[in-house]
Amino acid sequence: MKISVIGCGYLGAVHAACMARLGHEVVGVDVDEAKIAALAEGRAPFFEPGLPELLGEVSGTGALRFTTDMAEVAGSQVHFVCVGTPQRRGEYAADLRYVESAVDALIPHLRDGDLVVGKSTVPVGTAAGIAERLGREAPGVSLAWNPEFLREGFAVKDTLHPDRLVYGVPGGEAGELAVAQLDEVYAGPLSEHTPRVVTDYPTAELVKVAANSFLATKISFINAMAELCEETGADVTRLADAIGYDDRIGRKFLNAGLGFGGGCLPKDIRAFMARAGELGADQAVAFLKEIDAINTRRRVRMVDLAREVLDGSIVGKRIAVLGAAFKPNSDDVRDSPALDVAVQLARQGADVRVTDPEAVPNARRLHPELRLVESLDEAVVDAEIVLLLTEWQEYRELVPAELAEKVAGLRILDGRNVLDPVAWRAAGWTYRALGRP
Ligand code: NAD
Repeated sequence: MKISVIGCGYLGAVHAACMARLGHEVVGVDVDEAKIAALAEGRAPFFEPGLPELLGEVSGTGALRFTTDMAEVAGSQVHFVCVGTPQRRGEYAADLRYVESAVDALIPHLRDGDLVVGKSTVPVGTAAGIAERLGREAPGVSLAWNPEFLREGFAVKDTLHPDRLVYGVPGGEAGELAVAQLDEVYAGPLSEHTPRVVTDYPTAELVKVAANSFLATKISFINAMAELCEETGADVTRLADAIGYDDRIGRKFLNAGLGFGGGCLPKDIRAFMARAGELGADQAVAFLKEIDAINTRRRVRMVDLAREVLDGSIVGKRIAVLGAAFKPNSDDVRDSPALDVAVQLARQGADVRVTDPEAVPNARRLHPELRLVESLDEAVVDAEIVLLLTEWQEYRELVPAELAEKVAGLRILDGRNVLDPVAWRAAGWTYRALGRP
């Protein structure tokens, strides 16, 4: 099929490359010239494992091109809208201006029989509004909402082999046609028996925010238990193991620590609260306010723990922060818990050095006031305390005796509960973590 992908960020660039890999002819469009220039040369504009290889593989086939010119979508039968929906400044609600401007720019190039497919995460009711507009301005064109569940760090695999596909479609013949078109797009994954849920627009929109709310709740639940463990001397990692053996609960997403961040979970639960409020259903998701608060408290607690371990003051103390990305295997620093802690420590007078295997350039752009260094060695030299805040594999594998030779004080805070306390203490380190004695 001929496919266009509008918005080539973390979601869209991967989607475009994967659609080409599935055998389609794809054009990716973005307003960001630098991003398009990189992609057009077959380079990934951000760090995502497997994407450079995939771009190399499909670029050579001529099945994938990138442009800033929206007119080039003409001739595509299916148009995926993958633009950003960030949190509005100073509000909880989602900022839909990018979705609106993408639809504005797309409409003049649509032809009868085309299908517009929303993938961006939007407040419930958005799809109905866009469908109404298409009905007025491009009556032969249909709309489907096909939320995306990929995880950064596994985006290529998740797009080529999703664990489910959700189609929100209109009723009647238009809906049947939309389903047939999407089935053709996803013929590859469907041949692997990927479950497919066909539903209406509001359900499809809600599926995405419900899934993210559930995941955020699971993380904040275990972090609330961590708070209790801290008061009682219990160990939250053992607690998580023990409750996780119950397969109704499951161990995944029960890793206590610094909590969630990134370009999705925090803004999605806030946008959900805002939308529920507009619908007069705010009580239904009022609990998300607490989920958000528990999450934010972990960051404050991390700063307090550093102060406690440094005998009551962080002023002027050399602190090494390992990790700037919101999670390992990504260079995404949007609402990163690690960076947030680093910024708070620096603002409170500590001499902070932050490093990350991939996210230093993005972190530098967002926080030019922070001292960001390229290597672990530069970060830890003369450090009085080391904070492991994003659990990259290379930090999980740190050897206590080797690190001891580089720092000024043997103190480590394990913000992700990934180190072995016994080994670190045996090597002479003061080891502290969230939710563990
Ligand atoms: P992003 O900021 O990385 O990418 C958005 C892209 O859209 C940018 O490159 C931007 O330049 C482009 N854009 C903005 N306005 C445009 C326009 N009018 N025309 C063309 N391009 C335009 O964001 P992202 O992480 O890719 O997220 C995109 C959407 O996907 C969001 O709604 C997000 O919630 C959702 N989502 C993201 C993920 C993820 O892991 N990143 C997962 C699932 C869903």
